[in-house]
Amino acid sequence: MMLLPRLPDPVPPAQHEIAASYIGRLARLHGLDINTLWRCVTEREASGGMRRVVVPERLAAVTGRTVHSLAGALPELRNPQPDWAMFRHQPQSGCHRCNAKHPGGEVTRILPHHRYVCTRHRLWLCPSDADGHTTPLDALPEIVQAQRRHLRILQRHGWAITYDAVLTAILICGQQWSLSENENGEAWHDWIRRANILIPPGTAEATFSVARLCAVVYPEAVALAPLFASSFWRQKAQRTAWDRRHFNAEVARRLRHPRYGQHENDPISHWANMTAKRPPLTPIRVHDQKHHLRKPTQRTATQRAEQRHAHAFNPSRRAGDALIAHRHLATVFRRAWHPFRTHSLLANGDSYYKLS
Ligand SMILES: [Zn+2]
Repeated sequence: MMLLPRLPDPVPPAQHEIAASYIGRLARLHGLDINTLWRCVTEREASGGMRRVVVPERLAAVTGRTVHSLAGALPELRNPQPDWAMFRHQPQSGCHRCNAKHPGGEVTRILPHHRYVCTRHRLWLCPSDADGHTTPLDALPEIVQAQRRHLRILQRHGWAITYDAVLTAILICGQQWSLSENENGEAWHDWIRRANILIPPGTAEATFSVARLCAVVYPEAVALAPLFASSFWRQKAQRTAWDRRHFNAEVARRLRHPRYGQHENDPISHWANMTAKRPPLTPIRVHDQKHHLRKPTQRTATQRAEQRHAHAFNPSRRAGDALIAHRHLATVFRRAWHPFRTHSLLANGDSYYKLS
């Protein structure tokens, strides 16, 4: 193995950057061949496979940075390894304005599930499949505010419960949005108002994305999520009729939907009847380090589906359908449609993905 001396311009890694992205930037900044630098700071994995893993001490030696500070930014360098289920499985570039201060070309990060907005630059970052659409939120401060509220749910309940609760709430808001105006409350009008800002009428061919639909319902999803996360409200949803009325009144307040709870067949009642007693789901797909040197793949099938939805987009007519069907929600979507099957397979989550 060739050893390199310390690089003259060892810029710092970006937060949550993948190691291959950081090493690629270092190579470009110094006019080095990426594969040469990659081989200098990696070695074959101990199990004898073909995969190479970063040796933290070597990356520390070429950058003059401590292993501790590198591992603070680069999740792959952490020892012990992080729980990869708490990150999105797909690397993404994150906030392009934050990235602008990191020289050396494209920054690729593996963001945790709870990162939807760059609150500093007021940009929407989620879901990762829709990367490339940068959505400014200057006209929609409630979406930036919702990210702060989301972080408070995380502090209180931890990543697994928060992940399930927020995705469930996004799915339910998508289902509510597709119901007619008279089955909805004030939130429905806010969804149309926000949709008209993010996807201005007549521009859907150019501006439509499922990521933007997700942004539209995010404030109400984060308002509902604590009901799905807290054991207090989960029990209220399941116990006596009186408790259920209390739960429904709280849903009505958070959705600004005074008539909420008059029918029993809406998406939140379905959650209360079927899902409230079940443990939180973990993601179907978990980040796979083997793909690190590859660039994120182009998802042409997803793009074609988006184009179909863009053609038909009308914020007041079944607008949530495209959001519900999106892979970002696949974990909770499958449970909502197959509540018993999902539960019976929870014990071996791996086989669940293959069976579905
Ligand atoms: Zn930013």
